This record gives sequence, structure tokens and C-alpha cells, in this order.
Amino acid sequence: MKIAADLHMHTLVSNHAFNTITEMAHRARELGLYAIAVTDHAPKLPDSPHPWYFFSMTRLPEQIEGVWVLKGVELNVCDAGGGIDFSQRDMERLRLDWVIASIHSDALGQPSMTEDEATRLWLNIARNPYVDCIGHSESRAFRYDYDTVTKAFARECKVVEINANSPIVRPGNEDNMRELALACKRNGTRIAVNSDAHSIYNLGQFDTVLPMLREIDFPKELIVNASRENLIAVLKERQKPIAGRMEEVKWDDMP
Ligand SMILES: [Zn+2]
Ligand SMILES: [Zn+2]
Repeated sequence: MKIAADLHMHTLVSNHAFNTITEMAHRARELGLYAIAVTDHAPKLPDSPHPWYFFSMTRLPEQIEGVWVLKGVELNVCDAGGGIDFSQRDMERLRLDWVIASIHSDALGQPSMTEDEATRLWLNIARNPYVDCIGHSESRAFRYDYDTVTKAFARECKVVEINANSPIVRPGNEDNMRELALACKRNGTRIAVNSDAHSIYNLGQFDTVLPMLREIDFPKELIVNASRENLIAVLKERQKPIAGRMEEVKWDDMP
């Protein structure tokens, strides 16, 4: 099981991370990755960059250091109704390539939820047209009905993240992550295997989760970043203009 793109990472502008976009892209190239998504924190967390950063970022080249760089964000789910911390108008203007929505309890303002509340929250996010991917949602504190919600995610073409940083920074949720992955497999919901790297040293590192996915024989066709083709296919379905340009350039022809 190989991962061709890393679709969740933080750069120097989230001031708990350590490298620039250029350095991350350079390292991705060394690792043989096809693409990365830069997903710094949206405004509700104290370490997030000024909102202008996200508007300026869209003007960077689409390929940096010979790697496709998707311009993204990690949104905060801000309330039990599934509210997010950019307005609809901002999301419309930003037109980002890759939008993750995650629960960070600091931004949500509560340390846990009942299963019913968390299920409702994610069903609302499933209907949010701007969200592409659901970040590290396996926490016990926000356990949700995996079958009901992953079916909705599949219907709405949302991608569930399997976050390789979770077992390190949010330990004790490995059983939930496995159950979530099994629900995705059962319901045909696609996943992304991401490092959530905060420096070049963690980029492209997936060893904390790949053995579990191998063990449950997770199908490669449901992993959106397992190949160039899978990634372009999901970006097309999510109606991202960059997908067409990625399709025009063969991986071998990239600088
Ligand atoms: Zn996060
Ligand atoms: Zn993150």
C-alpha cells in the first residue's frame, strides 16, 4: 500500500509548525510524492495565520519544487450545528483546492459530546458543499454513529481522513479509528491517509496507520491519495479546477 500524496500539513504560519511551503514541497519531492495539500488552521485557533494568508496563498504556483501543491485549510467545526470558521462568502471567494473540517475542542468550546450530538454535527458537515475531507474524527470524546455518518459522507462525496499523527498526539483512540475505517470499507466511503505533519521530518510518514489498514484489507480504490489517478478522480468529483490541469501533465513530465 503506497501513498502518493500527503493531504494534511501545517507550515510556519501556524506558529506551532516549523517549515515553509517551499521546504515542505522540496521534502515531498525527495520522498517521491506526487502532491501535497497545505492545510493551515482557520481563524478560530490561536495559532492560525491572518485570514489574508489564505487569500494570498491561492496566488502561489500550482507546482512548487516539482510537486503539485493543493491550497487548502483545516477548518474548525465551531458549534454543535456544524458551523465553520470561514463565512460562506469567504469560502466562495477562496475556492480552495482541499478543505478539511476538524473538531478541535478549543475552537468548539467543549471537551466532549454525546454520540447523538456528534452524529448530528457530522451529518450537517456532510451537507456543507465547501468541505472535502473530515479530519481526525476518531476521538472517543466525539464518538459518532460511524455507519450512519459514513453512508452520508459517501453520498455527499466526502473523504474521511485516517490521520497518522493521531496515534501520537491523541493516543487511546486506535480502536475507534479501526472501527471508523471498517465502516468506510463497508459503506464505500473514501479515505485519505495523511501525516498532519508539522515539519519536514514528519511529512509522508504513515507508519502509525498503514499496518491497521493492511490488516483490515482496506481497498486501495477507496484511498484517494493512493495514486495520482485516485487523487485526480476525487478532485474532479469535488469540482476542483486544478484536477483538469493535473490530468494534462503526466507525472513523468513534471519538472
Ligand atoms: Zn487538526
Ligand atoms: Zn492539522
